[in-house]
Amino acid sequence: RAKEQGRNSYQFYTEGMQEREVRRLELDTDLSEALARNQFELYFQPQLDLVTSRAGSVEALIRWNHPQRGLVPPIEFIPLAEESGRITEIGRWVIRAACQQLRLWRGTPLEHLRIAINLSGRELGEADLPDYLARCFEEYSVEPHQLEIELTEESFIANVEHNHEQMRRISQLGVHLAIDDFGVGYSSLGYLRDFTVDLLKIDRSFITDVTERHDDAVITRAVINLAHNLGIRVVAEGVETEEQLLFLKQHNCDMAQGYYMSRPVPAADLPGVIARGLLSVSLQ
Ligand code: C2E
Ligand code: MG
Ligand code: MG
Ligand code: MG
Repeated sequence: RAKEQGRNSYQFYTEGMQEREVRRLELDTDLSEALARNQFELYFQPQLDLVTSRAGSVEALIRWNHPQRGLVPPIEFIPLAEESGRITEIGRWVIRAACQQLRLWRGTPLEHLRIAINLSGRELGEADLPDYLARCFEEYSVEPHQLEIELTEESFIANVEHNHEQMRRISQLGVHLAIDDFGVGYSSLGYLRDFTVDLLKIDRSFITDVTERHDDAVITRAVINLAHNLGIRVVAEGVETEEQLLFLKQHNCDMAQGYYMSRPVPAADLPGVIARGLLSVSLQ
């Protein structure tokens, strides 16, 4: 009986794999037309400045409005696009859309906002990326410091020399660089020493239990102090409760991002989110 069960679960497993594979292939095909059909959209999630209690930046998070499947999350199609190489054109679209948005906000109550975009290691490696950025800044009259680029640790591992040079060139344009998801993956403190990093985003996995678990609290405080001593500002990711926010404020974290302040929203909803204030809680 055990054997039979084992076989059944094995069959179930392979069917699951097949379904996933089919879905993957279908998504990959659809992805090839998504740009031309204008199916991508940027959502924006505010990062609350814990000193001014205002949003300083918003992170741009890509969404794919699939005609049949509805909203497809990036976790499903970004890895696909990286494999196929389509990430390049998608990333260029993101850069352009962010610059366009910054220009649209000029003269509105949102004009002080910076936009943080996410770039994968593969995109960072593209030789003409710095030139592309410079051209977009010029085309949309955007100041380079209005754009921040979030890189995950994978960007610091592959093609170390080349990526380091790319980061230096981008940094010289005046764009601020952030390490995303800090503390998970192949964390190495050497990045903080060797690369021009302006911001560090503490991964959500440390914040989730930061008010309940002593170890998470110790790590979070240590990362904040380490970064500050190196002149790097710190953003906490995944803040979902008032207690977490107060903990971060109390320990001098610079910024906080998470569902507690706001979920990622379409551009049209952002003025409302910013106007009503990000906090119903006083940070005093
Ligand atoms: P990320 O850059 O670390 O973005 C943060 C993710 O956490 C977002 O998921 C966001 O919606 C989610 N999040 C924010 N606050 C909370 C919270 O309080 N609780 C929880 N549970 N989640 C929260 P999303 O939008 O699904 O994006 C997932 C990942 O996809 C991003 O992680 C980023 O690595 C990647 N991504 C998104 N947009 C782009 C893009 O334009 N280009 C590239 N290359 N990658 C992107
Ligand atoms: Mg990010
Ligand atoms: Mg992150
Ligand atoms: Mg992440």
